[in-house]
Amino acid sequence: MKEFVRYIPPIHELQRDARFSTLTQTYGIDTTEMSTILKNIVSTIREQLLNGCWEGETPGSQPFLEELFQQTEYELAQAYQYTIKRVINATGTILHTNLGRARLSQNAMDHVIQTAQNYSNLEYKLAEGERGSRHVHVEELIKRLTGAEAAMVVNNNAAAVYLILRALAFQKEVIVSRGQLVEIGGSFRISSIMEESGAKLVEVGTTNKTHLYDFEHAVTEDTAMIMKVHTSNFKVIGFTKSVETSDLVDLANQHPSIIFYEDLGSGALYDFSQHEIGEEPVVSDVIKQGVDIVSFSGDKLLGGPQAGIIAGKKVLIDQLKKHQLARVLRVDKMTLAALEGTLLDYSKGKDAIQTIPVVRDLLATKKELQIRTDQFIDRLTQQSSGYTATSREATSQVGGGTMPDVELPTVIVHIKSESMSAETLANCLRTENTPPIVGRIQKDELLLDLRTVTVEEEDMMIHALVSIDRMMSKKL
Ligand SMILES: *Cc1c(COP(=O)(O)O)cnc(C)c1O
Repeated sequence: MKEFVRYIPPIHELQRDARFSTLTQTYGIDTTEMSTILKNIVSTIREQLLNGCWEGETPGSQPFLEELFQQTEYELAQAYQYTIKRVINATGTILHTNLGRARLSQNAMDHVIQTAQNYSNLEYKLAEGERGSRHVHVEELIKRLTGAEAAMVVNNNAAAVYLILRALAFQKEVIVSRGQLVEIGGSFRISSIMEESGAKLVEVGTTNKTHLYDFEHAVTEDTAMIMKVHTSNFKVIGFTKSVETSDLVDLANQHPSIIFYEDLGSGALYDFSQHEIGEEPVVSDVIKQGVDIVSFSGDKLLGGPQAGIIAGKKVLIDQLKKHQLARVLRVDKMTLAALEGTLLDYSKGKDAIQTIPVVRDLLATKKELQIRTDQFIDRLTQQSSGYTATSREATSQVGGGTMPDVELPTVIVHIKSESMSAETLANCLRTENTPPIVGRIQKDELLLDLRTVTVEEEDMMIHALVSIDRMMSKKL
């Protein structure tokens, strides 16, 4: 094989070939870029020839040129493809952090497109023809939905926590219960963010129990804040005690200079507990109890874009808006549009709330899922004889570190293929299909939970399963 190396055409000759120059035009690249791509491909082939492991066509032949061309076309297609891809989430985990958390509602999406494609009054007062503030757009809606005096939005809830500590408790003491010093998804720790902000953490109580007197004893002249953190992603059970929000409000009220801040984490605007789903506090109830300031995520239970929403007393929000960091942490117009669209859905009442995918998926009942799952199985087995599919009762997770103890009763599809392992099938669905489909594997069966799948996506999944089976059976 080694001697064939010299039959590989030189790069400049390949570049002149009409097929390659057409590719250059199709992708709008210049000859230097094309030459780099060709050099890379050719050097790999040369290496394989020299090592005796080249399995392709013989250099010098027409089929070899054709192979080279196909390889180049493939490399270009790869290089010019989006790396963020739409994915079908068949895991049933609604706020799947790795798959982008919340899906946006139609209204939110329409509003984003309008705002992104056109000029807008982002920072412009139309009535006066003067410069305005981007903060005004969602503030009224947040006030209406939470009952707060004022509100603002930053990049995410981590940014909100940081801004609040930095702007309102810099070099002052912040009292937090040891049971609430949480770490959230990867790199966000309350204790670290506190240190980063320049506020001084004063830990009180123990991991499982903190009493009101622990807080009372910790108050000093340097106390700027009492902070309550919603333990979103874990639950302490057994011999436990935490202090009620109302008691902490009373304590903070006895000291006019102390701010009471509650990091709500998810921040539900809708009361899921009325459907026996979790015990997530509704933001307006927390505000009603007299908390000075709260913050929560836009893309967790709320079901909107990534954002950190801060709501509370006007004097405090004004201070935050004026802080230099507000500019550093500010959100883009697309985020504001997506958030405004989502919040408007909430303000329009029950039916509109159901158009928010996160809410709809959370409220989907086992009965609905049973019907959809049975239909899915019928259609799949009618179109392909390569699978055994059965429906089983199971539970779906909320995800995103939210409601860790909630198990949503569901019905899922268990699939076994005649021609391949569950592992291979799951791999094919992720890598061979557009859009990629992500399911779960359990005991050599592929598990698909339709809770997080739309009706349109069901069709795509059936199509994918049928064609993968056809492809694999051919290979056998
Ligand atoms: C999720 C969460 C955060 C971080 O919110 P992001 O919007 O992901 O930045 C902060 N605090 C709590 C309690 C959380 O649950």
